[in-house]
Amino acid sequence: MRTEVALLRLLKKLQSLEASRDRLAIAESLVVATLEILDARFALLHVFRATPSGYLTAPLAWAVAGGESATTNFDHLDVDETHLAAEPLLEECALAPSGVTTHKEEGGFVLGFAVGPQGCPVAVAEVHCNERPVDELCACVHELLAIYAEHVGLLDYAELDTLTRLNNRKTFDENFDRFIDLAQQAAHRREEHQTSEHEEDRHCWLAVVDIDKFKRINDSFGHLFGDEVLIRVADLLRKSFRGSDKLFRFGGEEFVILLRHVSATNTAHILERFRETVEKHEFPQVGQVTCSVGYARIDPTLSPAEILGHADDALYYGKENGRNQVQQFEELLKLGALKQAPAPMLDLQADIDELFK
Ligand code: GH3
Ligand code: MG
Ligand code: MG
Repeated sequence: MRTEVALLRLLKKLQSLEASRDRLAIAESLVVATLEILDARFALLHVFRATPSGYLTAPLAWAVAGGESATTNFDHLDVDETHLAAEPLLEECALAPSGVTTHKEEGGFVLGFAVGPQGCPVAVAEVHCNERPVDELCACVHELLAIYAEHVGLLDYAELDTLTRLNNRKTFDENFDRFIDLAQQAAHRREEHQTSEHEEDRHCWLAVVDIDKFKRINDSFGHLFGDEVLIRVADLLRKSFRGSDKLFRFGGEEFVILLRHVSATNTAHILERFRETVEKHEFPQVGQVTCSVGYARIDPTLSPAEILGHADDALYYGKENGRNQVQQFEELLKLGALKQAPAPMLDLQADIDELFK
């Protein structure tokens, strides 16, 4: 009977999971369902990542018996190295062939469920129960978590570029406002003189990276080698930037980086170091590849199109002046190398003509 009630709950949860695209809401709904089905004291869903320094985890959502549940304040775009930690018990569960582990703990049991493909899970659920749940209920939860992993996989498919696995243009459009909000909050803090001198200089930045003479790479070596260059450049981007900096493939051989809270001097160093990394990388068959970078400050009063336009202007200045270089929009304005586009003027006469037509 208990199993039947749990199954009914499970079906209801599945309906809400399928309908939602909000990853945090899905994760919260999932831990609440897990808690209820297993009659647990506490359930916690962790993000699970394989990184060069080992397996790392970060809590994503949790629920406590009695109705309390919550999520962290980051979503999949925001999990960075500052959130991640090594947790041996979670690692053991993630790598267990069955995907489920049980350990005795004081006053009950702690169960682990790996979420996602065997051997490379995307999450691990940690569940604390007073009594050891029956196998059928554990199987129900494992199935529910597998459906969750598939659903998240579909969301990834819509949000990530299929070739490079970087965020795609659509994800940029949908998340840029959040970045602007952060920049705006930082600007307000500065205005209120609440920041330290060190923080004073920090801003958000948008950089556009474009591979130089990429058409020639395709023409000389074929599209497959061209694709390999794109995949390698994406990997170099991932290795060169912090988890809190967001990376996007804008289509073709163009990438966008959003950098958060970095000083002007550091931004220039970081981007220059990336340009050098690409220049020194030995690409299979192709050999040396270079890229040009244009970047601009994210001024919260401007539209995303205007900020992108600034970074693009700086990029094309670099393209026209020899390629394989990093250029900053504001610096080029200061030097007089670029001119600020005039603000659009209201065509009052046209409006008046329209009124009296
Ligand atoms: P520039 O230095 O001025 O940037 O020159 P470019 O040759 O890199 O620029 P252009 O825009 O002329 O060429 C970009 C090429 O990228 C043309 C297009 O065929 C190729 N391309 C776009 N998407 C892909 C892709 O997914 N894979 C491969 N292999 N090539 C692509
Ligand atoms: Mg190019
Ligand atoms: Mg291009």
